[in-house]
Amino acid sequence: DARSSEELIRAEEPVLAHNYHPLPVVVARAEGTWVEDVEGRRYLDMLAGYSALNFGHRNPVLIEAAHRQLDRLTLTSRAFHNDQLAGFAESLAALTGLDMVLPMNTGAEAVESAVKVARKWAYEVKGVEPGRATIVVAAGNFHGRTTTIVSFSTDESAREGFGPFTPGFRVVPYNDLAALEAAIDETTAAVLIEPVQGEAGVIIPDDGYLAGVRELTRRAGCLFVADEIQSGLGRTGTTLAVEHESVVPDLLLLGKALGGGIVPVSAVVGRRDVLSVLRPGEHGSTFGGNPLAAAVGSAVVGLLETGEYQRRAAELGVVLRDGLAALVGRGVEGFRSRGLWAGVDIDPSIGTGREISQGLMDEGILVKDTHGSTIRLAPPLTITAEELLSALGSLEKVLTRG
Ligand code: PLP
Repeated sequence: DARSSEELIRAEEPVLAHNYHPLPVVVARAEGTWVEDVEGRRYLDMLAGYSALNFGHRNPVLIEAAHRQLDRLTLTSRAFHNDQLAGFAESLAALTGLDMVLPMNTGAEAVESAVKVARKWAYEVKGVEPGRATIVVAAGNFHGRTTTIVSFSTDESAREGFGPFTPGFRVVPYNDLAALEAAIDETTAAVLIEPVQGEAGVIIPDDGYLAGVRELTRRAGCLFVADEIQSGLGRTGTTLAVEHESVVPDLLLLGKALGGGIVPVSAVVGRRDVLSVLRPGEHGSTFGGNPLAAAVGSAVVGLLETGEYQRRAAELGVVLRDGLAALVGRGVEGFRSRGLWAGVDIDPSIGTGREISQGLMDEGILVKDTHGSTIRLAPPLTITAEELLSALGSLEKVLTRG
């Protein structure tokens, strides 16, 4: 397509559903931490595809794995076995310390699958009365966009006009163990939470919350489902965000970076006795566990097995935190960060998150706002300290230029 960025943006308007409002940049190529637009302007990617690009754009190890697989076999469906899936599941189970893998494609599908597994487990194992199972979730959650998932969203714009909704969910405040305890009863199949709430603005619970959720769910005899679709796979400085409190959930949801930014790959990873409630014909996906996804997913696990990305996120996370701390009172009202992931509340008198994002774009830095005046920073874990400092310098410039 030989059209300019401006022409391409205009061309989208009549033919693309308007469910997004992207920044006006048209990316044509990328490598590592950098993307390049149609006109050849370069931008530092501080969003990393909402953490789907933890290992950078076109990570050579992942591209090589994808190429190799493209030349051999891309899809079988689960009607047959493929030679990539066993190795992927073995390595992912080993990486996460869990037993079994249910491969799906998108994050929302992993969440939906976990809802189904938890309900079935409640009826078949826990003995909840048929049709009565409940799942407790947290206010401010983001678990995806399907009808069932938006049924328990607290974001009106995610729900408005999409009802009727799926029943069976109880919403409690996030980071509130007493409220959670009060919401759990004999109908409770599971507690489903994000160990860090990403879309809500990188909300980090108090120390002890995740361990408390583990303890409460263990005592109540219900499942702890951790949605690590955004927080997992290196982002917070550990393989999983639940590791910060040495917690092992019953079901773990992964997506985004599991596909290396190349193909959609998600998974429910969990205890054998829980995932074993699914029997042939009861759940599935045409593309889930396809050989291309499994080959890329295995290569992703291989990168994480080295520990290098977790280490980088932890070390550079200190640079990010210190850099943001220096901006508090100078355009930044407050921030939350863990590893290479931060939610930054901008002084609203300086501009909305959107305006700040636009200002940073003009400086060659790509970020995305979340709500109101909050922007989130989540660069590829391959970013260098110099690049990170330069991005922080650009943020300072945009915030203080008056
Ligand atoms: N869960 C969490 C925590 C997420 O952050 C997201 C996406 O942002 C999802 C689920 C949904 O993933 P997907 O967009 O792949 O359906």
